[in-house]
Amino acid sequence: DRQKKIRNFSIIAHIDHGKSTLADRILEYTGALSSREMQAQVLDQMDLERERGITIKLQAVRLAYKADDGVEYILNLIDTPGHVDFTYEVSRSLAACEGALLVVDAAQGIEAQTLANVYLALDNNLEIVPVINKIDLPSAEPERVKQEIEDVIGLDASDAVLASAKAGIGIKEILEQVVAKMPAPTGDPDKPLKALIFDSHYDAYKGVIVYVRVVDGSIKAGDKIHFMATAAEAEVIEVGAFMPRMGIVDELAVGDVGFIIAGIKNVKDTRVGDTVTGAKNQAPEPLPGYRKSNPMVFCGLYPIETQDYNDLREALEKLELNDASLRYEPETSTALGFGFRCGFLGLLHMEIIQERIEREFNIPLITTAPSVIYRVTLTNGETIEIDNPSNYPEVGKIEFVEEPYVKASIIVPNDYVGAIMELCQNKRGEFVNMEYLDTNRVTIIYEVPLSEIVYDFFDQLKSSTKGYASFDYELTGYRQSKLVKLDIMLNNEQVDALSVIVHRDRSYQRGRIICEKLKELIPRQMFEVPIQASIGTKVIARETVKAMRKNVLAKCYGGDISRKRKLLEKQKEGKKRMKQVGNVEVPQEAFMAVLKIN
Ligand code: GDP
Ligand code: MG
Repeated sequence: DRQKKIRNFSIIAHIDHGKSTLADRILEYTGALSSREMQAQVLDQMDLERERGITIKLQAVRLAYKADDGVEYILNLIDTPGHVDFTYEVSRSLAACEGALLVVDAAQGIEAQTLANVYLALDNNLEIVPVINKIDLPSAEPERVKQEIEDVIGLDASDAVLASAKAGIGIKEILEQVVAKMPAPTGDPDKPLKALIFDSHYDAYKGVIVYVRVVDGSIKAGDKIHFMATAAEAEVIEVGAFMPRMGIVDELAVGDVGFIIAGIKNVKDTRVGDTVTGAKNQAPEPLPGYRKSNPMVFCGLYPIETQDYNDLREALEKLELNDASLRYEPETSTALGFGFRCGFLGLLHMEIIQERIEREFNIPLITTAPSVIYRVTLTNGETIEIDNPSNYPEVGKIEFVEEPYVKASIIVPNDYVGAIMELCQNKRGEFVNMEYLDTNRVTIIYEVPLSEIVYDFFDQLKSSTKGYASFDYELTGYRQSKLVKLDIMLNNEQVDALSVIVHRDRSYQRGRIICEKLKELIPRQMFEVPIQASIGTKVIARETVKAMRKNVLAKCYGGDISRKRKLLEKQKEGKKRMKQVGNVEVPQEAFMAVLKIN
């Protein structure tokens, strides 16, 4: 029967190992798209994704494949995001599958996210089919990589497909292994509906499009459905699948992957990981593993132009329709005026939202330095969570403070072990373990405060290893730390948006560096601007921006009007990114300066 012919699978890989290219080739091979229609990386639909070459939202496509055994199979290929911020989405999309293609670059071998993804796949009991990609590269070492897969992951790699997604080599063999090795979905068509939500997105015309994997029962237009975690209810308008264009079908049956449209207005009702069941005929229990994904990194977003405030609110409202993990609430800063405190899953998520607001909504922004959530226990016994340094309580009221820690796994060639250890030590990391992957590469594990990862860890990791390190992390919990709030004063006025929470032992150094950085970034004004860093009332560092000497316009000898106008326009351009703080003009970068500490 039909259920036996279904194969639901994902492709997992470290970034750049060729997942999207392989997905394209599979689509092409199965005839889902003619090569004329093929646009590179069709699964990465958003412009931003395409430009950045990353996959933010996972997608599912239904393909037909006639295998060598003569059977026409239904393949559902579920694409997953490749970045650590979206681990939870990866994990839920894997839960919708029975198998995974593990793509490893034949020249690079196993990297940090290869392992992280393999662990997620094993947690979900998936059948893993290894694919060694990019065998066309002169530097490819498929035999070495096979060995690595066996030694490090413990998978039998003797049948690993040697492929080149770019050159279209090995595609058929991959599909044959998918149908032969991966199991068909189990599940009971006669039980009440149970479908796993592995993604959803808001469409301006159709409302929320909910991507599901039907585990038990079936679903069709007219059914009344119930979302078990959010208790939202709706009536199904259409069900369908992406083939790879959106296509309506009569029903999604047991084992199927597809979408539901039910006139829902906000993705917050359709949380990733939740279970959809019938409103009348409800399943007794939801599918396992649901958790709400919580933001870990917070920052302030302020419009540069005060009159953009309402547009910014509308932009956030729209983005929220499509992003269940985005959090925001109004916030005021004495320095920056009215804005929003926003919460994100991680730094990449934060950058994506900022960029979309600026690009799609055309609102120039000032963003404040990202902060993690600190837990402060007060002398009165109460524990509060602080996501904005300017709300940090007075020292005298604090009993102790805790901050989030992560377990960081870093894979590097031997030569860089010293550099990595130095970096991690500098970031207050505690060494946990080190293991050789092969004769040339090691996995190094450190526990590091999340706040230190937020402060340009990625950039430093890349620069100190010439880009050879790969990195993954997971939250491990909260630990007590000796933290203090560092305040910054410009022209003798405290700028709340520049406050940061730092470790006590590093506070003097940090204060000095921030002052130096600000001195570089703040342009000369008509008057002298003192920059000071302080802890409580104690000033720990000071710099001065000297007053401007001459009027720039004096350079344009009287008559040359057009040159003068050009210069003024240029200055105006430059000003777009300036914010008046008190009587000092501060450029956007200054608010991020607290991050760049090297
Ligand atoms: P993803 O990040 O895993 O989705 O990787 P992409 O599919 O975006 O590929 C990353 C880069 O590797 C792109 O520049 C691809 O053109 C290239 N690439 C992918 N597959 C192959 C391959 O088989 N051979 C070669 N030489 N390059 C490949
Ligand atoms: Mg990709």
